Amino acid sequence: MQTHFDIVIIGSGAGGAPIAHTLVNAGKSVLVLEKGPMLRTQDQSPSGLSDFKRDELFATGTEKRLTVPDMANQDEAYYSSHVEPDINDEPHVYQSADGRDRATIEGYTAQVIGGGTQLYGAVSLRFTPMDFRLKSFNEGRSDIQQDPNGVVQHEARDWPVSYDDLEPYYGKAEQLIGINGTADNQAKPFSQVFYQQPLQTNPISSVVETGMDALGMPRYRTPLAVITDDHAPSGRTIPAGDEPAKTAYVNRYGDPLGLKSNTWVALLAPLADRPNLEIRCNCHVTHLSQANGSINGVRYKDPAGRPMAVTGDVVVLACSAIESIRLLMISAEEDPTFGARIHASGLLGKYFLTHCFGGAETPVPGRYDKSISLDSDWATDFCASEDFIRDNGLWAGGAIYNNTSDQALPVSLARTHGSQDLDTIWKAFVDDTSLTGNALLEFLDRDFGRRLSVSFMANQVPLRENRIELHPTVTDKWGRKSAYIIKGWHSHDIHLMNVMSARCSDVLRFGGDGGQGNYPVEGFGGVYMAENARARIANHILGGARFGTDPGDSVLDPDCRAWEFDNLYLSDGAFMPTSGSANPTLTIQANAFRVADRIMERL
Ligand SMILES: Cc1cc2nc3c(=O)[nH]c(=O)nc-3n(C[C@H](O)[C@H](O)[C@H](O)COP(=O)(O)OP(=O)(O)OC[C@H]3O[C@@H](n4cnc5c(N)ncnc54)[C@H](O)[C@@H]3O)c2cc1C
Repeated sequence: MQTHFDIVIIGSGAGGAPIAHTLVNAGKSVLVLEKGPMLRTQDQSPSGLSDFKRDELFATGTEKRLTVPDMANQDEAYYSSHVEPDINDEPHVYQSADGRDRATIEGYTAQVIGGGTQLYGAVSLRFTPMDFRLKSFNEGRSDIQQDPNGVVQHEARDWPVSYDDLEPYYGKAEQLIGINGTADNQAKPFSQVFYQQPLQTNPISSVVETGMDALGMPRYRTPLAVITDDHAPSGRTIPAGDEPAKTAYVNRYGDPLGLKSNTWVALLAPLADRPNLEIRCNCHVTHLSQANGSINGVRYKDPAGRPMAVTGDVVVLACSAIESIRLLMISAEEDPTFGARIHASGLLGKYFLTHCFGGAETPVPGRYDKSISLDSDWATDFCASEDFIRDNGLWAGGAIYNNTSDQALPVSLARTHGSQDLDTIWKAFVDDTSLTGNALLEFLDRDFGRRLSVSFMANQVPLRENRIELHPTVTDKWGRKSAYIIKGWHSHDIHLMNVMSARCSDVLRFGGDGGQGNYPVEGFGGVYMAENARARIANHILGGARFGTDPGDSVLDPDCRAWEFDNLYLSDGAFMPTSGSANPTLTIQANAFRVADRIMERL
């Protein structure tokens, strides 16, 4: 078995696959080590049956009990899925508001070839130019609300690259990944538009169209990483007949058809037969070793659990931010010299970020078969404009887009009803005993296929105390220390979430009654109101190893190379110094293509 490669990439998701794709095409020998299994689409499988099942019970598993010792939520019920770690086997731990520790799977995306992009909702927005210079933008301002100690100005950082630097790579990602959407009305300059044609809108989204127009919010079709036409770069084609319709329910589900543009079908599968690419699945990297500031060993367990080691001229960590940070911290505990180097700035794990997020939701008139449209139809950058930001005393902006799949999936409805996702999924109907008999029928009639939500995603204030550590006592099933998530919200985050969720509510309020503004909205708010608010991450796992120009103020250099290691790069969401005004994956992918070019210059 080959043990040395030009490049070893750990993780096959948004941060890892673009680098593999670029380097394989350049003729370099590439090894991708992926902890999760190889799950194939129906076209890739010899049997014609996909490894992904549209079986919601299979996806959510049976009820289990949490057994992690000393956790405040020990003995609670939970469900696990086939592509997410089981909480008992591999817990993350978070510190809740009462100071007690709780086990969670928040902060994992998906463990499978393609990583989180297999399960993601595929919303593929660019960040705005201002997202890259929030320190410069906020300098000298005296109108930032709910920030009595000037934390924003102290902690905001400009990125060491600008929107213009990243713009060609956004285009490259959009072209190679395969995304549908429209560019007009986006508050981001495009040098070239590679979007495929969006599908027809879901009729219930007309409420959003009306609401955004009434409020003067320029709208565009939400860019979604789902192909709607044959996609030459990846060789994927649209099947004849009704099949494409089944791509609707992609958020949280793998797509058996391969039309959702995860990094496996878009970037890796087309190159899988190349002799210079090896993908080793079910291989779990345990730690890295180093000598004189170069990574000289990537240690992993093979599918049989045997310890293995490989080397690469370059090593790329792309395990998703929390797991990459954890891997580095565990490596540091194995070797004090490794530790001295990786902790040189004192910033590894610090400034962990997610997004401020939330929105508004309500049943709307009409009902529609959601399986024949995609989940999100309309988005607006209205709340990312400088005027909006200043008018509302905000430090940064956010994106707004709608979703039509709320309460849409028949079986998982039982799991997700009234839930705040993940940590509280098992509340669902289990807690709502009123929903039986006729009450359940009435509930289904009122809600099923009728619920519309408008969500926002916005920058969270970077705080040093928001951080990832190794938990002092909790370990995974292999005895490796678990990640400890210590995270709260700044008072300005709460202000921002209130402002943004009110705008989301306005969209429904004005949209539901033809622009009058009196339509009843059932609920709106920010995630800080959730019972498990301190855990909630929106599946957006960012920061903790930020890049920058000053080695004393960052963990990575502008090329995402670890300052203290000659050949170690981090290309998952950990590099971000601020979390951006939109869902992050397209930016992770674009940046990974950029990092790939920098790596190519040295190989
Ligand atoms: C349900 C859901 C919906 C989402 N919706 C959206 C959306 O609409 N838009 C958006 O922009 N983002 C969305 N996201 C987030 C998106 O999935 C992540 O931003 C993205 O995948 C992060 O990329 P990454 O490279 O950091 O990590 P990932 O893509 O998760 O890749 C990390 C990979 O590393 C592997 N790995 C981890 N540890 C090890 C190890 N020790 N050894 C070997 N391999 C390892 C993992 O198995 C995984 O495959 C969503 C996520 C989820 C779960």
